[in-house]
Amino acid sequence: MKPFVYCPHCATPLNKARLEGRERMTCPQCGWIHYINPTPVTVAFTLNRNNELLLIRRAHEPALNEWALPGGFLEAGERPEDGCLRELYEETSLEGSIEELIGVWHRESEMYGSLMVVAYRVQAAHENIRINHEVFEAGFYSPDNLPNVRIPLHAHIIEASRWPERDLSLTL
Ligand SMILES: [Zn+2]
Repeated sequence: MKPFVYCPHCATPLNKARLEGRERMTCPQCGWIHYINPTPVTVAFTLNRNNELLLIRRAHEPALNEWALPGGFLEAGERPEDGCLRELYEETSLEGSIEELIGVWHRESEMYGSLMVVAYRVQAAHENIRINHEVFEAGFYSPDNLPNVRIPLHAHIIEASRWPERDLSLTL
C-alpha cells in the first residue's frame, strides 16, 4: 500500500502531522486529512445439503494456489450479506442464503493494508459449480476429506464455524 504524496483535491504535497494520536498525511493548502480505514471483506463458509464445505483454490495473489473460502471486497452501498452472496456467485456460480454471522476479524494485508473481514455461514441452494478466472478449482468437501487450508484466518474461520451434524435423514 503506497501512501498518498499529493493532496487528491488540490495536488499540494502532503505533510505528516500528528492528529488524534496518529500520524496522518494532511494538506497544508486545503486542510484535507488522509484518514485510512480498514477495507471490508466478506468470506462465505458455504455448506451443501450434506454439510460438506465449499473450498476454492485461488488463481490470484495474495495466497495464489492456496485453498480458501470464497469471498472478496464489499462494494460501496452494498449490504455485507449481499456482497458475500455476490462474491460466492461470481467465483463459483453458486446461489445460497445467509444462515448466520460467524464473526468479524481485523487483518493486516501486505497487498491491501488494513482489512475488516466478515464471515457468514451460507447454505448453498444447489451444487452446479462454474468457476471464474479467480479460481483454479472449487468443490464441496466433507470434514474428514478437507484440503489443507493454510491461510491462517480462513483456517480459523473454519475452526470457529458451527459445522452441523450430517443430517442422516437425507441419505436414507
Ligand atoms: Zn489539498
